[in-house]
Amino acid sequence: GTARVRVHETFPSRVLSGPGARHRVPAEAERLGARRVLLVAAPSAAGAADELARAFGPRLAARFGRPAVHTPVAVTDEAARSAGAAGADCVVAVGGGSAVGLAKALSARTGMPQIAVPTTYAGSEVTPVLGETENGVKTTRRDPAVVPGTVVYDPELTLGMPAELTRASALNALAHAVEALWAPDATAVSDALATEAAGGLLTALPEVLAAPGELAGRERLQEAAWLAGLCLAQTRMGLHHQLAHVLGGSFGLPHARLHALLLPHVMAFNLPSAPRAAARLGPATGGDPVAAVRRLAERDGGPDGLGALGVPRDGLGAVAERVAARPYPNPRAPEAAVLRALLEAAW
Ligand code: NAD
Repeated sequence: GTARVRVHETFPSRVLSGPGARHRVPAEAERLGARRVLLVAAPSAAGAADELARAFGPRLAARFGRPAVHTPVAVTDEAARSAGAAGADCVVAVGGGSAVGLAKALSARTGMPQIAVPTTYAGSEVTPVLGETENGVKTTRRDPAVVPGTVVYDPELTLGMPAELTRASALNALAHAVEALWAPDATAVSDALATEAAGGLLTALPEVLAAPGELAGRERLQEAAWLAGLCLAQTRMGLHHQLAHVLGGSFGLPHARLHALLLPHVMAFNLPSAPRAAARLGPATGGDPVAAVRRLAERDGGPDGLGALGVPRDGLGAVAERVAARPYPNPRAPEAAVLRALLEAAW
């Protein structure tokens, strides 16, 4: 039979990385033949966006400064109107997954080429996945056409990330790598990427939290997050991402922090059923991946939990039922009662 046949697919993108890489963005736009650039930037990236706007000069068609989490269609509509009115033929996004998601959504509508300049570790810039929300409903699709053709990783843009965003976003990246290790469609390539990504994130995150202004550590963390994003692009995600989608969608929670909070719980649940993944995580975690990730996930600001994020305790049962009814592929069958216990522990 062909049950064990796997498919490995890569998505074309040109990646520039290293300190100062952002200064190459205008030349990259030129390379794409862009004459009118729409600049999308999160408020946190306003400084970098101002710099780029000056460098683009007359080629700057318009700026859009209000990307939102989970890519609301109404926000995309507004940005698309402004791009159309300005005659934009290329979109440059500077910011986290929200800014990158908006660029992907705009490109899906218009076919505009994209340059993504990520400032978090979410990894969306290298995936063919686009999640959008309309009237509170989130839909996700995979389309190779939404992968940004050019990605610019400049670690200098991450130097100012607050500690909690650094921690949460790096653990969001770690979740991509961990789930790739136990994915049913893992390949030799995704295993290699995931092992390197997890090792890099687990080593660099404590370094960066101890010395947030050190460029070398920031660069290693960003490189590992890039690899983790590729894991998300190449494999099907399991229970962890499903819980994050359902909880995030139902209760409107902060994306990265939710991932960070859930990860050690899902690892404790899955790893006994995923010995190959556990073995690959062993060397970087002193042989105890769950304990290592739990330590990293502990916030400086004290106790954390789904309750503190705003999830009502009496909502947990419905989440468990929904996930158990139609589970994503996962090494351990997530029965509703056991899931409920996992969610209670995370609460
Ligand atoms: P985000 O982009 O919403 O950023 C979170 C907050 O941090 C924002 O206020 C932002 O302005 C700020 N911020 C970003 N970079 C900063 C920096 N360097 N310094 C200081 N502040 C900074 O959050 P995110 O976690 O990067 O992305 C989450 C979104 O991306 C969600 O909508 C999620 O669904 C999506 N996502 C999609 C994929 C995919 O493959 N499609 C992958 C990961 C995430």
